Amino acid sequence: MRPLGIFGGTFDPIHLGHLRTAFELQQTLGLAEVLFLPTGDPPHRSEPLADANLRLAMVRAAVADQPGFIVDDREVRRSGVSYSVDTMTELRAEFPTRPLCLLLGMDAFLGLPGWLRWQELFELVHVVVAHRPGWKAPTKGPLGELLVDRGTGSVQELHRAPAGRLYIQAVTQLEISSTELRQLVEADRDPRYLVPDPVREIIRESRCYARPHD
Ligand code: ATP
Repeated sequence: MRPLGIFGGTFDPIHLGHLRTAFELQQTLGLAEVLFLPTGDPPHRSEPLADANLRLAMVRAAVADQPGFIVDDREVRRSGVSYSVDTMTELRAEFPTRPLCLLLGMDAFLGLPGWLRWQELFELVHVVVAHRPGWKAPTKGPLGELLVDRGTGSVQELHRAPAGRLYIQAVTQLEISSTELRQLVEADRDPRYLVPDPVREIIRESRCYARPHD
């Protein structure tokens, strides 16, 4: 059974850095599908600027033409704060034996020890971290220990067990950030070639990142 990838994020907005990362991980790891999970009310950052339904619409528009990219709106539909451990528990109940790979960018991985009940995640899923070539893995602290205990360089291991491993994969780095994108749009500049065209269209029509007095 090929693993399912799970890619969560605020996606405020989703951009080509997210999409290229998900695509390369899908190809390299042989993931059957990648589930995009826009967060409703994120526990680890200040309020996003586009409301959850608009962020969800942008994710839907961004992946519509890519078979194998699926949108999961459970965190948007749920009221209140969503914690990854709760969402992964739900997904594990829905896919009792299937390997599940939680896909994280390096910045998200470095913040992992701050997540609620983060160690329990490894009972539920594998964690796959996308990094830039030449990146040095932490050797100390909780993430250093995690790498020693759970790290693997074998894609086969991600296919063989349903959960429990940590895998680090180099992907093409596109230095695009949602924060910078929002600032760019606020400054009345065009996000073309940083986001898919249908996302650009939603940003333009909704004026979700435009300066309030415009
Ligand atoms: P911001 O720039 O506002 O911090 P973000 O794009 O980092 O936003 P999220 O939408 O929550 O924030 O990111 C979702 C996931 O995508 C995270 O795991 C993050 O590490 C990863 N990610 C974000 N930007 C990139 C990028 N340019 N390339 C690869 N992965 C990325």
